[in-house]
Parts: sequence; structure tokens; C-alpha cells
Amino acid sequence: MAVIGIDLGTTNSLAVCYRNGRAEIIKNSLGEISTPSVVSVDENGEILVGKIAKERLISHPEASACEFKRDMGLRRKITLGGKDFSPEELSALVLKKIKEDAEKYLGEPVDEAVISVPAYFDDNCRSAAKLAAKLAGLNVQRLVNEPSAAALAYQAEHGFCDGTYMIVDFGGGTLDVSIVDSFDSVMEILAVAGNNHLGGKDFNEAVADYFCRENGIDRESLSPDEKAIVYKLAENCKVALSDTPAAMMVANIGGKQYSLTLDNNKLIEISAPVFERMAQPIRKALKDSKCSIDDIDDIILVGGSCKMPTVRAFIAEITGRKPCTDIDPDTAIAVGAGIFAGIKDRNDSLKDIILTDICPFSLGVKILDERSGNEVMSFIIERNTVLPSSREELYSAVADGQRKVTLQIYQGESRIPSKNLFLGELDITFPPAKRNELVCAVRMTYDINGILVVDVTTAADKKQYNKVILGGSGTMSDAEVKSCIKNMEKLKISPAEKEENRLLIARAERIYEESLAEEREAVGMLLSAFQAALKSQNSRDIRTAYERLSELLDSLDN
Ligand code: ADP
Ligand code: MG
Repeated sequence: MAVIGIDLGTTNSLAVCYRNGRAEIIKNSLGEISTPSVVSVDENGEILVGKIAKERLISHPEASACEFKRDMGLRRKITLGGKDFSPEELSALVLKKIKEDAEKYLGEPVDEAVISVPAYFDDNCRSAAKLAAKLAGLNVQRLVNEPSAAALAYQAEHGFCDGTYMIVDFGGGTLDVSIVDSFDSVMEILAVAGNNHLGGKDFNEAVADYFCRENGIDRESLSPDEKAIVYKLAENCKVALSDTPAAMMVANIGGKQYSLTLDNNKLIEISAPVFERMAQPIRKALKDSKCSIDDIDDIILVGGSCKMPTVRAFIAEITGRKPCTDIDPDTAIAVGAGIFAGIKDRNDSLKDIILTDICPFSLGVKILDERSGNEVMSFIIERNTVLPSSREELYSAVADGQRKVTLQIYQGESRIPSKNLFLGELDITFPPAKRNELVCAVRMTYDINGILVVDVTTAADKKQYNKVILGGSGTMSDAEVKSCIKNMEKLKISPAEKEENRLLIARAERIYEESLAEEREAVGMLLSAFQAALKSQNSRDIRTAYERLSELLDSLDN
């Protein structure tokens, strides 16, 4: 029984298996590597998936659907040929086709998969992806973030050594920019930024518009069929420009033939707004990761739109760096997912790579804002925190004589709790407290499988409360959940209490006493910085500060 990795894309989906020590791309029933994520229902009610369905988008738009990945986790209804589908059901049909094609290719049953999802997918979307897999008869071993998968594919090609990468994933309708850091076989996503409504189709629109303008055609006056044809030809023309300096677009409309010749310079001119909107997420990801472009070892381009030479040149221009060229933008994410599947399958050559992820959303509790009297969020684990993570916050009484509180747990970015996703609650009681008196410590521990453990300890009588929220991990067995929770116990030791950290502080204090003048000052400064990092509970900051301080101590000790 094989485990495969699947890139379930908004526009195209791909599958990869891991065998004979390497990732192997699985060809579909047409012998092609990518399957359009499109579903269509024909006159007899038969369901068609992939390339045929994509053709029917033009001829039978009312019976065909695409881009439903965007709606995963939202309660949407999509009607095709008189039948209603949810986005999960449509994704399941794509996954089922991928599974069946993989079984034919591999000659054995496939019932497990690692599936990649965008890093910004929240718990709802992740659960929806798992549901889709389940409906397709696939057990999800793990969901992986698309940029982690791409970075892993890069590392498989370049050797698993330390490095920091920018991953630009520019697909059919989305742009995602991520900064991924690989250190000591541990891979972390440091930041993600993006634009959910920017992609290859914006270039198609620009070319279609230009074609109509140049030929004096009022695009709005075209029939839906004609519009779809112009759009498809515009896309073909754009794709052709990735390999040739100039391309021609010819369309028959109302019995008349219209044509247009386009080159890359013109393409840049007519799609200037698209390029402008690309720059912002690239800058934001760098800024959020606290990296400068000099910290980036390589820029990895993935997604079909990164095959455009104009896009590559633009990224090179705004970053001042030449992106890496030996990773196939079409297959990188699927290859990475396939390698994950290999790791999960206990494949020997990959056993040593540990993968972490970042939390794609913030987790916190509802509190009373005393100044305004409004209920607001207090975030404990913030978005972009490296996972697994465990953090603690302290809370005080809001009124004299208070003896209980219902701790409500939310996920999301809004300051207003009701706008976020409610995850669960805990009733806490304690001896009557004075206003502003510390009443409890709330610790949240969150792992890559989406398991959230909330531990509350009351300040006065040290009572313990505990709640486990299974989030996106709905498909794990009880035994797997138990083993994850057991592993998470280790994380609950706050960084300041960790033995190695305490040892470093003790050593720094000794050397501080032994040394004088500038040396003493330097130790004092780095020690303060290390203690501040411990207080922040941010593992990356702790690691950096730890390394700086221990390097200095090593040099002074010698
Ligand atoms: P998604 O991640 O959204 O599923 P893909 O990464 O498969 O999408 O990218 C699809 C987009 O890439 C489409 O807009 C398509 O037109 C574009 N594309 C694919 N190949 C090329 C090419 N050779 N040149 C330019 N654009 C391309
Ligand atoms: Mg993609």
C-alpha cells in the first residue's frame, strides 16, 4: 500500500510518490503531470474531472466548476447540472481522480496521503481539506504547508544543509510569499504574506482586455461563450510568451477573424498593476521574518506563473537577487509533499529531517478591557509563532470579590472575540480575589497536528484545569492523539526553566564576576538580551540570543 503526496491546487493538482530513495512524479491517465482542479457534470449526470472538465468550463459553464479550493471551509453551495455540491465534495472529486490515477500508475492501492495546503489556511479550512480527503477514500497522514513542501523539494535537490529561503508561490489566482529557515535539520517557516486574489488569471484578463481594445471589440457585448474563448486564447498566448519572444493570438468572433501579436515588453506594460501588487507581499514577508534580503540564501520560485520570464525578472529586480532556476515551479510542492510522505513512511534516508511549522493564526482568550468595558482578545500564541509552541499568560481579577471566570478560547485575528472562531471554554473558580489581583496562569500548547492543550493554574489555591481541543486533527486515532499530547508535555517547561538555559545564565553570571571592564559589560549586555528573549518565549529569538551569549562565553573562557 503506497502513501502519496498531493498538491491540491486551486488551478491544478499533482501527485508524487516516494520510492527507491527519491520522489517520483505520478502521471495521470492522460500521461500528464498536472490535473486541472475542475469538475463538470454532463447531460447524463456523469461527473468529469480534470482536463475534460476544464474544456467544458467554456462549453458548459453552468455545469462546470473551478477554484473551489478558495471556498474550502465556508458553507457554500455550488450547483452543477441541477445538483448541489459543497467545496469539500468538489475537492474530494479531484482527490478521488488523483487517487485512482495514482493506483493505475503504481499498480497498487493508495489509501493514505500527505496533502499540502496554503500556510494561511485556518482550522476550518484544514478540517475541510481532511474531510475532502476522507470523502475521496484517502486517510490524511498529515497536512503540510505548501512553502514547507517547496523548501523540502529544494533541499532534496541541493543537499540538506542550513539555509534561509524565500519561497514565492505564484499560481493561477493566488500569490504566497514565505520565508523558510532550515537549521540543524529543523525546518521553520518564519513568515508568510500574500495576496489571495492575484495570479495567472490577472495576466489572462489583461491580455484579453488588450486583445479586445486593439481590435475594437466591446468585451462586455460578447456572449458568455465568446468571452470564454477570448479568455482561453489569451491564456494560451501568455503561456507561449514564456518560451518565445513574441506570440500571436487569433480568434473567430461572429464569423470574423481578429488577431493580435504580443511580446513580453507589451505584456509587462499592459499588466503593470499586477506587477505592482506583487511587490507588497514580498516586502511584507521579509519584514515579518525580521530578515534582510542578505539573510536569504536563495529565492525559490513555485507555481505556474513563476514560469513567466517577466515575473522572474521582476522578482530579481525588486529583491536585487537572481532567483534559483533549477527547481521546477510546477512540481516543487507536490515533490515536497511526496518527500513528507516518505518521512512519514519511515523512509531511512529521510529519517533525520525534523519539520516544524508556523501557527497560521493566533490563539487566545476573551478578556474584559477595563478602560472601555468591552470584551477583547488577549492573544497567547500569535500568528507566525514557530510550532510546536507553549506559552503562558497571567490574568487578574476584574472586580473585588470575584471568584470565578469562564475562560473562552478563540482562534483568529480580530480584536473582537465574536468575530473569531470559538474553540471551547473552561469554568474556573478560585477564592475571592481583589480587583487586579493575579488569579490564574493560562498556558496554551499547540502542535503541528493542530492539537491545542489549554492548562489553567489558579494563583491562590493552585487548582489545575485542563482542556484539549482537537482542531484540524479530526482524522487522528485516539492512540495518535494521546501520543501527541504526551509529546507536548515536554514543551510545557517554560524556556526560562530549561536546564540548558539555566546553565548558560549561571555560567554568564560567573564569567561576569570574573571579568572586568568591556568584557564584563559585553557579558552583561548579552545576558540581558538572553533573559529578555526567554521572557518573550519566542524560540527563534531565544536560539539567536543563546548562540550569541554562549559564543562570547566560550571565547572568554579560553
Ligand atoms: P495553482 O497553484 O493555483 O493550482 P499553478 O501553480 O498550477 O496553480 O499555476 C497555474 C497558473 O500558471 C495558470 O494561471 C497558468 O496560466 C499559469 N501557467 C502555467 N504554465 C505557464 C507558463 N509556461 N507560462 C506562464 N504561465 C503559466
Ligand atoms: Mg499551487
